[in-house]
Amino acid sequence: MFERRFLPVVVILLMASLVLVVGLWAVDSSDQTRPLSDVNRSIDEPDYRWKLVTTWPKNLPGLGAAPENFARYVNEMSNGRLEVRVFGAGEIVPAFEVFDAVSQGAAEVGHGASYYWKGKIPAAVFFTAVPFGMTAQEMNGWLHYGGGLELWQDLYAPFGVIPFAGGSTGVQMAGWFNRELRSAKDLSGLKMRIPGLAGEVFDAAGGTAVRIAGGEVYTSMQTGVIDAVEWVGPYNDRTLGLNEVAEFYYYPGWHEPGAMLEFTVNAAAFQELPSDLQAIVRYAARAANQNMLDEFTARNNESLQQLLAAGTQLRHLPDDVLNLLYEKSVEAMMNLRTSDAMAEEIAVSYEAFSTNVRAYHEISERAYLNARDKVLPPVMQEASQAEPGR
Ligand code: CA
Repeated sequence: MFERRFLPVVVILLMASLVLVVGLWAVDSSDQTRPLSDVNRSIDEPDYRWKLVTTWPKNLPGLGAAPENFARYVNEMSNGRLEVRVFGAGEIVPAFEVFDAVSQGAAEVGHGASYYWKGKIPAAVFFTAVPFGMTAQEMNGWLHYGGGLELWQDLYAPFGVIPFAGGSTGVQMAGWFNRELRSAKDLSGLKMRIPGLAGEVFDAAGGTAVRIAGGEVYTSMQTGVIDAVEWVGPYNDRTLGLNEVAEFYYYPGWHEPGAMLEFTVNAAAFQELPSDLQAIVRYAARAANQNMLDEFTARNNESLQQLLAAGTQLRHLPDDVLNLLYEKSVEAMMNLRTSDAMAEEIAVSYEAFSTNVRAYHEISERAYLNARDKVLPPVMQEASQAEPGR
């Protein structure tokens, strides 16, 4: 009697529950067909997942910090909507296949140096370094306010790749040598890891340039495959332990006065992004670019002092070596310009900008450094003592 009285209520409650369950199921399935961006963000699923492949060993300080920073900046600025995962050389593709991987879409982003691709794209050397060319500050000016980046984009467009400046090391060191260079004659027969146009210059000056990725330079020196290696400068060279495999450390970095690294982005993947994520990619690259120069500026001298304390012999390249390298650099540039129409077009822009900026730097950077040196005590005393004869 009591139960029969409540039966209609129980039936109504059961029907209501059924409607609720079906309703929730319908809402849930409609979510699955909507783009990820419309779903509640608390589930932490990115809208886009990108792979970033690099020419550096994973977690290499200095050069290898730029791709890590880029990934972090993008993840933070997009609130996780665009996730970038960094892979070191050899994890997805070997160091020297980074450009092709990005071009073919095996990875959406790459980090490396444009001169690694000079076999495929001869004019790419301008966007890393030109021997006796522009410094980091000058390169950044040319790329971002002198038309350089547009030329770089034109150069990579046929490959479906968009380049961005990816960090500068500043002036590099001329490199590590297992014997002393007393004159230009000592370049004869030397096997050196030195990429880019500078490699051709080194060949013309009597040596043999070898192309070796960063992960292998230590072993190549240790086993005597090469006699000399240029890598970057004190901070990065010390992290590779190059002082353990060569005694003499030469300057100045005639070959890479402001080596510029690159981010390469697959053009189709970039175009798929909404405009705010495209902007985040551009600004993350720009921030990572400046950050590298800041870090090298902050860390190089401390690393140099540690290298000197551990026995490294610091040497200035003899004048006749620099003169020969300059003479061969002019020839190598002429050969490049006459053999490649794009190289000629880029060279015209590069040289015009360089000439202009040098004129002002005479009365700004150089004049100021000279003035400062006259009033401040010398700071290279320790290094000079480690250099007999200079
Ligand atoms: Ca270098």
